[in-house]
Amino acid sequence: MAGKILTVIETDAGRVRDCSYELVTLARELAQATGGTACAAVLGDDPVAAATQVAGHGVETVYAVKDPGLAAYTADGWAAALKRLMASEGVDIVLFSHTPLGWDAAPRLSAVHSLPALTEIVAVEDGGKVWTRLMFNGKFQVRMTLDGTPAVVTVQKGAFPPCEEQGQGAVKEVAIGLEPGAIRQKYVETTSAPASGKVDLASADIIVAGGRSIGSKEKFGIIKELADALGGQVGASRPVTDAGWLPHEHQVGSSGITVKPKLYIASGISGAIQHIVGMKQSGYIVAINRDKEAPIFEVADVCIIGDQFEIVPALTKAILEARGHG
Ligand SMILES: Cc1cc2nc3c(=O)[nH]c(=O)nc-3n(C[C@H](O)[C@H](O)[C@H](O)COP(=O)(O)OP(=O)(O)OC[C@H]3O[C@@H](n4cnc5c(N)ncnc54)[C@H](O)[C@@H]3O)c2cc1C
Repeated sequence: MAGKILTVIETDAGRVRDCSYELVTLARELAQATGGTACAAVLGDDPVAAATQVAGHGVETVYAVKDPGLAAYTADGWAAALKRLMASEGVDIVLFSHTPLGWDAAPRLSAVHSLPALTEIVAVEDGGKVWTRLMFNGKFQVRMTLDGTPAVVTVQKGAFPPCEEQGQGAVKEVAIGLEPGAIRQKYVETTSAPASGKVDLASADIIVAGGRSIGSKEKFGIIKELADALGGQVGASRPVTDAGWLPHEHQVGSSGITVKPKLYIASGISGAIQHIVGMKQSGYIVAINRDKEAPIFEVADVCIIGDQFEIVPALTKAILEARGHG
């Protein structure tokens, strides 16, 4: 592999998403290790401004892939446009973030054009010879090799640090000319789920988060009481919101909210990468878990090994007493 490593850029209201800059880090590492080149693609009806943002981050070329049919994301449009770009530019590896867009576009590109795919990658060794992915909610790591390129890869958010600004790559406009009928899905509108307005984890200073091991909606009371005693908000891992114990707006992680409070208390949360990426930038992390090997302890400043049903109420009581409310 010594060809082009192409990062597919995601944008949000014109701004390049952080996860795309993480991919650029990986593309640059792979290019350096293999003697290839790191490049990137921004797709849209007017992609030049976003492509210019990326060009200052150590990639040789940013392709501004342009077509009226790319005004809104569709899997057909992106797969067709990327396939053409790959053929015309000699791309070896296409990197997507393992995000809802990546889950949709990467398999489409792989399936429609019979390209090998690796998904949810968290580490790469030997310049792209061995790729590691997590399976069964992070309980197992699977190391894989890739037999043949071009190939499609999705990369877990948070697995690589975002790249620094560096150098100035070229922006190359590519008018892709999608045929009528190439895109079978039609974008109508985006609406967001109604929020209660009471929860704003993104700007909370203190978050107390609970996990699956709490066991029920009713038992979540111990987490809420500690959050109230500290004047903080309640967070949760995904199984909690999937089970309906709390609404989605409480979910922290790759498919929830990214938070950066001064204090994050994680109780009975194992520390799967999808949770960690959403809270690892917190100022001070306290983790409570009865398993001393729990991965959450790797990012915690204070590790409390024990039963949350004893520790959390005791903490609440101590805080209320210290504040004169005991
Ligand atoms: C595509 C995708 C996206 C995802 N997005 C997210 C996301 O945004 N956010 C997220 O959180 N997850 C997400 N997940 C799920 C993630 O992989 C994990 O499954 C999830 O984070 C695990 O939640 P948990 O830690 O609450 O449960 P578990 O992994 O079951 O961990 C429970 C923990 O509680 C501990 N425990 C048990 N009893 C006690 C006790 N009495 N006292 C103290 N500790 C105890 C156990 O030792 C264990 O460590 C996603 C998964 C996928 C595949």
